Amino acid sequence: MKNKLIDKFGREISYLRISITEHCNYRCFYCRDAEHTPNCKREDILSYEDIQRIVRLFAELGISKVRVTGGEPLLRRGIVKIAKLISSVDGITDVPLSTNAHLLGKFADKLFKNGINRVNISIDSLIPERFKEITRGGDIAEVMNGIDEAIKAGMSPIKLNVVAMRGVNDDEIESLIDFAIDKGIDIRFIETMPIGNAGIEASAQHISEKELLSKITQHLKGKLTPIASSKTDGPASSFKIDNTQSSVGVISAVSNHFCQTCNRVRLTAKGDLILCLGQEDSISLKDAVRSDLSDEAIKAMIMNAINKKPEKHVFNSVVDNISNRQMAEIGG
Ligand code: SAM
Repeated sequence: MKNKLIDKFGREISYLRISITEHCNYRCFYCRDAEHTPNCKREDILSYEDIQRIVRLFAELGISKVRVTGGEPLLRRGIVKIAKLISSVDGITDVPLSTNAHLLGKFADKLFKNGINRVNISIDSLIPERFKEITRGGDIAEVMNGIDEAIKAGMSPIKLNVVAMRGVNDDEIESLIDFAIDKGIDIRFIETMPIGNAGIEASAQHISEKELLSKITQHLKGKLTPIASSKTDGPASSFKIDNTQSSVGVISAVSNHFCQTCNRVRLTAKGDLILCLGQEDSISLKDAVRSDLSDEAIKAMIMNAINKKPEKHVFNSVVDNISNRQMAEIGG
């Protein structure tokens, strides 16, 4: 019988997100402080062998989905090899990627052939100058090329992730939806989260789930059919857009505590296992896999950590305990 990783609140943890680099070629103002630079040496970052062993141990414990994220994961040398080694682990059936798509044009086909079945692409504006400003230097033309190559490669579903911000891109909600429909892909609007100083500052531009849903419904009057959420969907409320290939949704970490359905943990590029995006708790799995601990001992450590997974995030009430985190280090 398949193992299951269940925490003390009865939640089944089936999803691991791995950040494979702290580096990013974009510097989105809500994600990273302007002056933030990763502070790590090569040996600080999980090696191929570390990643493979950790994923195998999680798979033995019952995890089936592993998302590859960053920083910008496509900047990591060996990204195709990492995709292959994660997707080849017994029990891992779903290996999505989160990317800004700047380099996806070059990698989409190779990644798809090596186990990346689907992709989430961050895109907060379709207007070149505005896109450049939000990302502090990004090039929308490269992202468009990345989206087209992901479609051509056969990745599915492809989801666009838009962080919706008042006075920044709230006038583009409709055109971003139309763009997704035109491409036959999905789109999600994300509430800003107060993580790290950049995220805390950007919370001044926060738009609530309620307001986002109202704009979406007004734009797509009578054309939305709610999608029943499945265990692996995560925290989005989603709708199929009738007579299209697309769906639209809102990810509302702030308006809603979806923590009771949280099914995930996060591994940073430096090998820290983070149990909750909105709480400080973590343990170092890098130290564990580089020690002489047996597989069984490390699995016991992981189970023990999962058992300490907090009941819920606290970013509505306490921001201080997560203000020194950089979203780019945790992987979103
Ligand atoms: N570079 C990749 C990308 O662009 O998707 C992966 C890492 S990025 C940190 C993952 C996701 O986190 C992106 O969709 C980004 O928009 C989101 N994100 C970063 N900071 C955020 C914040 N303060 N609030 C909400 N979402 C945030």
